[in-house]
Amino acid sequence: MRATPFGRSRAGYAIYRLLVSGEQRRSALLLVAVVMANAPDLDFVPGILVGAPAMYHQGVSHSFAFAAAAGVMGAVLLRAMAGRVAQMGFFLAFLCYSSHLVLDLFGRDARPPYGIPLFWPLTDHTFLSPVPLLLGVHHASRASSSTSEWVNSILTLRNVAALGLEIVLILPLVLLTWRWRPAVES
Ligand SMILES: [Zn+2]
Repeated sequence: MRATPFGRSRAGYAIYRLLVSGEQRRSALLLVAVVMANAPDLDFVPGILVGAPAMYHQGVSHSFAFAAAAGVMGAVLLRAMAGRVAQMGFFLAFLCYSSHLVLDLFGRDARPPYGIPLFWPLTDHTFLSPVPLLLGVHHASRASSSTSEWVNSILTLRNVAALGLEIVLILPLVLLTWRWRPAVES
């Protein structure tokens, strides 16, 4: 995990504001944006189930193939819920899911293999920016770390600092979408 869930959600929100015009905005679309911006890290869930949360973290769920699958899921979901916005659902889900991958790309990685397998299944090669921009949430990253070690490692002052840095980096983007959108609509 590199950016914090808060930072990811804000990125999803920024994409929602940019992609969905005023009259098309629905809370269902916003929910899809925020969920998809955090969805790749659901790979903690199987690890939590076996008592070692980091076991399967940053595997194939951090790939564009999964982002495309998320797009299809977003399209199906919104078609079922709102009827006519299937295409919007695809792009919204795909871009929000991909924003998570981009944020991870510019974060830190504490254990090998460093980076994320962006182009799986074409290649297992993992990618990571040589210069990390985001501190991210520090957590016990050893595959063998227990759930209690993992939870304790998340509740630290350092993670509060990471959150602060993200607010500084991502907030201008969100403010920009707030300012920019009304000008486009009018
Ligand atoms: Zn991630």
